[in-house]
Amino acid sequence: MNKKQRGKKEGKIVLNLYCDSCRKSTPCYSEEREEIFPVKGEEIKIFSKVMFCSKCGEDIYYDEFEEKNLEMAYEKYREKKGLLGPQEIKKIRKNYGLSQRGISILLGWSPATIARYEAGSIPNKSHNDQLRLFSEKLDYAKELFEEKKQELNREDFKRFSAFLDEKEGEIDIKYFQNHIIKKYSVFPDVYRGNRSFDLAKLENMIYYFICNEREIVKSKLLKLLWYSDFISHKKYKVSITGTPYCVNHFGPIPFNHESIIAYLQEINAIEIKPHPGPHEGDVFSLNAKFEEDLFFGEEIEVMKHVLEKFKGKNAGDMSKISHEEKAYKELALKQIIPYHYSKYIELV
Ligand SMILES: [Zn+2]
Repeated sequence: MNKKQRGKKEGKIVLNLYCDSCRKSTPCYSEEREEIFPVKGEEIKIFSKVMFCSKCGEDIYYDEFEEKNLEMAYEKYREKKGLLGPQEIKKIRKNYGLSQRGISILLGWSPATIARYEAGSIPNKSHNDQLRLFSEKLDYAKELFEEKKQELNREDFKRFSAFLDEKEGEIDIKYFQNHIIKKYSVFPDVYRGNRSFDLAKLENMIYYFICNEREIVKSKLLKLLWYSDFISHKKYKVSITGTPYCVNHFGPIPFNHESIIAYLQEINAIEIKPHPGPHEGDVFSLNAKFEEDLFFGEEIEVMKHVLEKFKGKNAGDMSKISHEEKAYKELALKQIIPYHYSKYIELV
């Protein structure tokens, strides 16, 4: 930039620095300026920060700014090329619980290489791609681990194995969820109450009843679910969770409820213990937290209403009441209950 274009008002005094032209320490101003930096043979344009002498206008070399400018140019280059930055690289390593030495053993790099990348050097393309693969494809990370695990020290070995176990647990749970969702989603609207099945809502409706009753007998819980979904359908023409229900000996229950319960046990959301009394069956208690945000106000109102209506009722009472429901009287055992039976529910 032309010296004359600069005035004292442009920048602000940051420091007194030695000016080579004035041959003395002078007050210096800072300013931002569009500049081109060469990075790996490419021209990278950035807004760099520079210092200049307030007396003669000459640029003054200032360490801190030069470093920042270079970092900025590197950052821009990485962005342009889709390369990982130092923070991302560190995060990938930490995510796996590995030391710098540990990750370089698995990737087949020298420890100095990973240290340089984490300090801000630009990774070369093949290292970058390998690291991405390592972070995104669990199978690849497992493969490297199987190959090189003897070379890892104990800490790296322990933490990486723990990470893999946890990931596999997550995959199992995803599989479980998809299995349930698929099974419920094949039913047409009349059996889901005009909405698609929502596993998170069904889970949380279960949590709602368990936490409000503290402990609840399984057969009672299953009927409270049915009443909630069907009363919502009666009032608003749409169920809360989209769950299909079928006729059971003791009244209506969610279709294939065993997989839902097995799933909730698998994710450690509920605990089941046998009831001390003679006829009541399993009792549920809750480890998970009920998430109210998943529901509309009207839906919570319906669930509250159902909870109040059946307060203090035991499984036997529940079964008697639901046996009076038209759905139970008219349909055969195991039959899926169409939601239009909601209009006969007297509870509202
Ligand atoms: Zn000067």
